[in-house]
Amino acid sequence: MRQHPRTEDSRDPAERLAALGFAAYVDTLRACRLCPGVVPPPVVGAVPQARVVLIGQAPGPREREQGRPFAYTAGTTLFRWFAALGVDEESFRARVHMGAAIRCFPGKLPNRTGDRRPAREEIETCSRHWRAELRLLRPALVLLVGRLAIDLLVRHARLDEVVGRQFAIEREGQRFDAVPLPHPSGLSRWVQSERGRRLLGQALGRLAAHPAWRETFPEAAGPGAAAR
Ligand code: SF4
Repeated sequence: MRQHPRTEDSRDPAERLAALGFAAYVDTLRACRLCPGVVPPPVVGAVPQARVVLIGQAPGPREREQGRPFAYTAGTTLFRWFAALGVDEESFRARVHMGAAIRCFPGKLPNRTGDRRPAREEIETCSRHWRAELRLLRPALVLLVGRLAIDLLVRHARLDEVVGRQFAIEREGQRFDAVPLPHPSGLSRWVQSERGRRLLGQALGRLAAHPAWRETFPEAAGPGAAAR
């Protein structure tokens, strides 16, 4: 695996201290059992010192079993999108911190037809984690994957209004750019529509052109890369 430039320990003491704080935070996250209605443990994709952070929606049962975000079919599609930018899954997981609107599997619907949508209170309770991650990591670029994640930071009524755009956000005392992406689930008709594919291509183009993305993946293709 290629060594990421930021893993060289050229950090100043303040950065090392922040890294220690992050490790302690991750222990706290793994131990979190605040929501009685979810199925623990929390799924953690922690990368200290990441300049790019991804916030997804909620883990599914496969993610919970494997203990890592986007471990199943939605992940296959998501990593195919990034592969179109010259970024493979292994590099992405090693260099991008992956959080979510809620970190535990919400559980199945009573009729077992799908996964339960997390309750508003659960999303609010779990917001302590992504908010802490913004403070500790101070990312320059945040990818918001799916409506639940986009709702955390960008007001919108429809995906068409936000996918393909970049937003300057100020939260938790940090300033960063946010790029919304649709959820890569095979159930999403939006992402399979012609308009959806075009807007997704624009969103991926914004990633490829962003300085933090280019710093994180210096070996990747330039901003001309497009979604497939
Ligand atoms: S969903 Fe979030 S806040 Fe709730 S128990 Fe899991 S990690 Fe903790």
